[in-house]
Amino acid sequence: MESETTNSSRETEDTQIAYYRINDACINCGNCLEACYVEAIEKGRTHYIITDECIACGVCSEVCPKSAIVENF
Ligand code: SF4
Ligand code: SF4
Repeated sequence: MESETTNSSRETEDTQIAYYRINDACINCGNCLEACYVEAIEKGRTHYIITDECIACGVCSEVCPKSAIVENF
């Protein structure tokens, strides 16, 4: 798993910074879009993106076939 420890991830919650991001491994399959129940995922210019509506539930990350959704900590 993670090689370093970070405990500050929740401190910026009131600023609504997205907790996950989608990297360029994304193949635009749409799985994450369907999985996100707060509609925090949108189609970006080249691949899907996560907006600041994200509540960091991690569901999208689990359904991504390319492991393109990673923690933004
Ligand atoms: S972590 Fe949860 S809330 Fe955030 S984009 Fe993924 S499914 Fe949506
Ligand atoms: S599930 Fe993964 S590959 Fe599919 S659109 Fe979302 S980020 Fe891209």
